[in-house]
Amino acid sequence: MRNYKIGVIKGDGIGPEIVDEAIKVLDAVAVAEKFNISYEEFLLGGAAIDATGVPLPDETIQGVKRMDAVLFGAIGGPKWDNLERHLRPESGLLGLRKAMGTYANLRPATVYDELINASTLKPSVVKGVDIMVVRELTGGIYFGQPREYGEDKAYNTMVYTKEEVVRIAKVAFEIAMKRDKRVCSVDKANVLEVSQFWREIVEEIAKDYPEVELSHMYVDNAAMQLIRDPRQFDVILTGNIFGDILSDAASMLSGSIGLLPSASTGDGVGLYEPIHGSAPDIAGQGIANPIATIASAAMMLRYALNEDSAANRIENAIKKALADGYRTGDIGAFDAKEIVSTTEMGSIIADYASK
Ligand code: NAD
Repeated sequence: MRNYKIGVIKGDGIGPEIVDEAIKVLDAVAVAEKFNISYEEFLLGGAAIDATGVPLPDETIQGVKRMDAVLFGAIGGPKWDNLERHLRPESGLLGLRKAMGTYANLRPATVYDELINASTLKPSVVKGVDIMVVRELTGGIYFGQPREYGEDKAYNTMVYTKEEVVRIAKVAFEIAMKRDKRVCSVDKANVLEVSQFWREIVEEIAKDYPEVELSHMYVDNAAMQLIRDPRQFDVILTGNIFGDILSDAASMLSGSIGLLPSASTGDGVGLYEPIHGSAPDIAGQGIANPIATIASAAMMLRYALNEDSAANRIENAIKKALADGYRTGDIGAFDAKEIVSTTEMGSIIADYASK
């Protein structure tokens, strides 16, 4: 029997509601696929501030390192907005990501056929879109030295070391092997030396993955192509700042924030979470969409635990629930047959995933 230890951080607002549904679905696929999951809860954000006075307690930093993966809801809310910056829930999350050394951010942009009208782009353009943006998360211009804010000038520096490019490129190629085996590396190599360097290293790494087709694209063109013909992409591999911008653009192809999962991974334990926040405006009402968190649990199974079959079960169950017309309120305007609550949606997906 395979045994997995999953760290659970429910967080604030709708966090506990949506994470509970993801656990319900994980338990259902664990039975179906014959593995064991045990859970350990950790505090982060507002919940941690209320219980311990700090947004990222030491027990959380130490505890998550003992886990196989961490499933996270969301943190933050008006109750903690007036605290000093370093004591706010958000600094707890940034600190946790740093402590976990998660240098790769994986953001899929999937367009579900049943919700095709939720996109702001034409159905003929977005039908069948299934992109994975692999963004380097801990290097590049956001962290490069030197940096300065002076009276007459200000600057930042875009730096990548060979080691940083090698490790993120490997992540992208490994993921491509589990998908359609195509990597498009996005850079600005016509203007930036750092991009030329990036490109050469990516080509070196590609030699270890002969089955994967590698292409390169300048970032300005990539932004245009994402809107013009997003179906051409499988895996997009890119640096920190380009990935920041492109992953947000790509996420809007699907049209609803309540659907999109993400993963932050590195050499150690990975963090799996929805892209949305804690939605304090709807917390406690039982109407939040749990699909982004449930889809994050599927990513966790695939990328952290190598349980591809269980991940497929969950993703197919989400599609079936949508195909059968079940919708939470946020997507209720798009071809709904029945509006369901957070827990009902979780139960429907768990039921489909177990069959
Ligand atoms: P948000 O993503 O929480 O909400 C934006 C809008 O989308 C709201 O109207 C909300 O009701 C809706 N929404 C979000 N998720 C939904 C879901 N699953 N189902 C249905 N509707 C959903 O962003 P915000 O309002 O800017 O931020 C609220 C709080 O969340 C803030 O404290 C912010 O700092 C925090 N936040 C946390 C994270 C995180 O934990 N990773 C990310 C972003 C924002």
